[in-house]
Formats: sequence, C-alpha cells, structure tokens
Amino acid sequence: MVEIINGKELAKKIRKDLKSEVKLLKEDGINPKLAVIMVGKDPGSQVYVRNKSKACEKAGIEFEEFLFDENTSEETLLETIKKLNKDSSIHGILLQSPVPKHIDINKAFRTISPEKDVDGFNPVNVGNLTIGEDAFISCTPYGIVKMLEEYNIETEGKKCTILGRSNIVGKPMIQCMLNKNSTVTVCHSKTQNIDKVIKDADIVIAAIGRPKFVKEEMVKDGAVVIDVGINRLEDGTICGDVDYENVAPKASLITPVPGGVGPMTIAMLLTNVVKAAKLSK
Ligand code: NAP
Repeated sequence: MVEIINGKELAKKIRKDLKSEVKLLKEDGINPKLAVIMVGKDPGSQVYVRNKSKACEKAGIEFEEFLFDENTSEETLLETIKKLNKDSSIHGILLQSPVPKHIDINKAFRTISPEKDVDGFNPVNVGNLTIGEDAFISCTPYGIVKMLEEYNIETEGKKCTILGRSNIVGKPMIQCMLNKNSTVTVCHSKTQNIDKVIKDADIVIAAIGRPKFVKEEMVKDGAVVIDVGINRLEDGTICGDVDYENVAPKASLITPVPGGVGPMTIAMLLTNVVKAAKLSK
C-alpha cells in the first residue's frame, strides 16, 4: 500500500517550530529579516515572492522587497546586494530568478555574502555542501532531504536516480543524496535509455519540468518517488513530472503535486533565514 508523503503537513509543522524559534530570537534582540530582490515583472516570480512574503509574515520573519525595473543595470543590482550584505538588520538575501538576460545571475549570486545566502546559490555554499561542510543548501533539495528523514526513508546504499541537472534542484540534489550515502545516477536531456535508469532506482527524484514524464512502467515496484515538477496544463491545472495516478499504486511512498515538495521549499527558506539570523549572533 502506497504512503503519500504529505509535504503540506510537514511544512506546517516546520513553520510552527520556526515561529517559536523566531520568538526566542526576538527576545534575544535578533529580529530575523529576509530581503528579496526582484528584477522585472515575471508573473510566476511575483506569485512566488508573494508566497514567500506571506510565509515570512506568518513565522514572524521581517520581509523587505527590492523591486527593480527590467532595464536595471547589473551594476545597480550588484551595488544593492553589496549594501544589503553590509546591513546588519538583514539576515538573508534572496535574488528571485529569472533575471533579465543582460544580468549575469551567477555573478549576482557570487556577490551575495555566503553568510546571507539563504538560497544556497553562492559557490561557497555549493562548495561547502560538496565537501560535506555546513552550508546553506538550496531550499528544494534541502526540503526533499527533510522529507526523506521525517518519513524514515532508508537512503544508505540505495540506488537513487535524479532526473534533471539544474543548479537549483538537480545538482545540489546529487550532493545531498551522496551525503546520505545513496548510489546516485543523474539523468538529463541527453541521457540514453532513461527508462532503464529510472527502473533501476530505489528512489526516483524527478525535476525536469515535463508533465507526467515518469510512467508506471518505468518505475520499480516499491520505489520511493519524489516529484519536484510543477507544470501547468492547458486546462489550467497543475501536475508534476510523474504520472501520479498510475505510478502511485506501484510506489511505496510518493509525493503529490501540489502538496508535496512545493510547500517544503518555502519552509526550508524560512529555516535558512532563521539559521542565518542565529549565525549573526
Ligand atoms: P530546468 O532548469 O529547466 O532544468 C531541467 C532539467 O531537466 C535539465 O537538466 C534538463 O536537461 C532536464 N530535462 C529536460 N527535459 C528532459 C527530458 N525529457 N529527459 C531528461 N531530462 C530532461 O528546471 P528546474 O528549475 O530544475 O525545475 C524542474 C522542475 O521543477 C520544473 O517543473 C520546476 O517548475 C520545478 N521546480 C519546483 C520547485 C518546487 O519547489 N516544487 C522548485 C524548483 C523547481 P539538460 O540539462 O540536458 O537541458
């Protein structure tokens, strides 16, 4: 019988605990604060930023938006980041992607102070994760790790296939699963015989942005299936990268979309902000 991993409930629990931690920090004179920078008016980003703002508010974390016109120069953006780096009232800095093409996003990520890099995209944090040192971990992979731990999913020695190699999800996920002693295989758009690679896995983590790509016949009986994908279908509904209805009966555990990985991503962002605030002591 398949168990559904309830990311929404788990995220709620994490956020409740964080609220108490924030209260204690405030009693200690630390007022956790997140700065979010957005360049341009990407509609998806606006929704994400609004959700992050609401989540911060509920947890008692201060939130300030820095909105820039899409023609803003890279120099202005970098100057803003440097100012926020120096501002001791700000504990976390997040640059919402995408940014307009004339801005080198990696340069911007490199400019965010590693101690305030709550998205975990500064190469210092990426490197620390790689060598197994304490790091801010990219929120989606971090949320998946939390889910696996909370549901007591054995990872050691297990074959884990990750679909997707983006800097935001796939690549940090590889490192997270290696750190959890899984044997990791990563697939991307040039991977051949992808069906076979998926079928071999005890744990499948799909992050490719292709609606219902992972089909029932690709998945091993009893596999753990984690679906990161968020795809909007023509009828306006949202679905993941996994054909949930048909894959679920074969899996031992599975995350739904929505209500799986998504809520965990925001919960881990808040976790990282609270961590950054504590480190600032
Ligand atoms: P991305 O930057 O577009 O990367 C997609 C990755 O998937 C690439 O590595 C690409 O390979 C690979 N890929 C694409 N089509 C493939 C195919 N047919 N077979 C195998 N690999 C394929 O995407 P992303 O930012 O990682 O996001 C992936 C999905 O997760 C999206 O649906 C996104 O909305 C969702 N997401 C959800 C959350 C959340 O909180 N739930 C957070 C972030 C992202 P190449 O490298 O070869 O191009």
